[in-house]
Amino acid sequence: MKANCWHGVNDVRIERVPDPTILNQTDVIVKITSTAICGSDLHLYDGYVPSMEAGDILGHEFMGEVVECGAGVKRLKVGDRIVVPFPIACGHCFACEQKMFSVCENSNPNAEMAEKMWGHSTAGIFGYSHLTGGYAGGQAEYARVPYADVGPLVVPEGLSDDKVLFLSDILPTGYMAAEACDIKPGDVVAVWGCGPVGQFAIQSAFLLGAERVIAIDRFPERLAMARDLSKAEVLNYEEVDIIDALKQMTGGRGPDACIDAVGMEAHGTGIAYAYDRIKQAMRMETERPTALREAMLACRNGGVVSVPGVYGGFADKIPIGSVMNRSLTIRTGQTHVHRYMQPLLERIQKGELDPACIITHHMALDDAPHGYEIFKHKQDQCVKVVLHPGM
Ligand code: NAD
Ligand code: ZN
Ligand code: ZN
Repeated sequence: MKANCWHGVNDVRIERVPDPTILNQTDVIVKITSTAICGSDLHLYDGYVPSMEAGDILGHEFMGEVVECGAGVKRLKVGDRIVVPFPIACGHCFACEQKMFSVCENSNPNAEMAEKMWGHSTAGIFGYSHLTGGYAGGQAEYARVPYADVGPLVVPEGLSDDKVLFLSDILPTGYMAAEACDIKPGDVVAVWGCGPVGQFAIQSAFLLGAERVIAIDRFPERLAMARDLSKAEVLNYEEVDIIDALKQMTGGRGPDACIDAVGMEAHGTGIAYAYDRIKQAMRMETERPTALREAMLACRNGGVVSVPGVYGGFADKIPIGSVMNRSLTIRTGQTHVHRYMQPLLERIQKGELDPACIITHHMALDDAPHGYEIFKHKQDQCVKVVLHPGM
């Protein structure tokens, strides 16, 4: 089959690789119809995540048709149309029983490697380095899906791929980030990053009762999307001092909750543009200013800082003194996608959410290298790329 394979920094290639096969009796094989490129894929493309190997198949946001079932699979059958959650979860360990699916204790065959890096292991993730299990990803014609009775959502008839694909990751991710904010009527939520995750965090914050959402980015088309689709107020961090602006907009107190939907980009492309302003805004000498630190410093006393943005290693100069003395709550995590698929599917069916509205590019799988380039550099007004192996 054809698959999009990682070969190094800024180097992905469409290659012919062996078709996946059933390895365990709870596996299914899915023939992929749609698969997206995520901001998390950019961390691999940027070379920020260790333990990638040349030839690794990328992709963790995918859906398609079941074409083969292991002997132990009970809930799925050949022909089912499914969306696959990005964390791989066994469904019955200590973590899974608490619905903490992204820290499943059984799905990462490289647990030791993760323990060395983070002190404890995490769940396996499709297409996301050997640190999270070395599973082949879904930017391919076919993928093997382990624990198939636990994760995948069977799509009801009449819903297009575009409407349900993002249940695999970014819609639950934006929603979990907003849910973590304990939003109460009248609350103001600020969101750093107007990429796909930020857009869904903004929409979810309104859905969960926020009175105002203030969206922060530097790309006019992403800010315009936040304003036009969700009625967010917007700030361009190249034009204003974000902490001052947020204080002014909230009667001097700061937002009730702050969401960092940027992650490691702040160490990469974002930082080159933001450095001087953020440094001033921090009112302290910093080596590597991040959206995360800004979110912590801007948040009102007693508020919540919610961090869906992905971090890999250390982010220095985290203002723990500010967090501690001002009674902030920090919530973060790889999304426990399984929890949110069914309830968010229902919201899509009711018309409360229309995830397709952020898609700017549909492409053939063959064009994945071009898709990565325009998504990384935000060229051609790109917000979200969906790839189609059959196109
Ligand atoms: P993206 O790259 O499209 O969006 C990031 C946005 O942040 C960009 O629009 C960029 O201009 C903006 N930005 C950069 N520096 C900024 C700054 N200092 N202040 C404000 N905005 C800034 O990516 P995405 O797909 O939206 O993903 C966003 C983050 O969420 C990534 O870190 C990704 O890895 C993470 N993510 C996490 C999970 C999870 O399970 N927690 C799941 C999916 C994605
Ligand atoms: Zn993703
Ligand atoms: Zn488990």
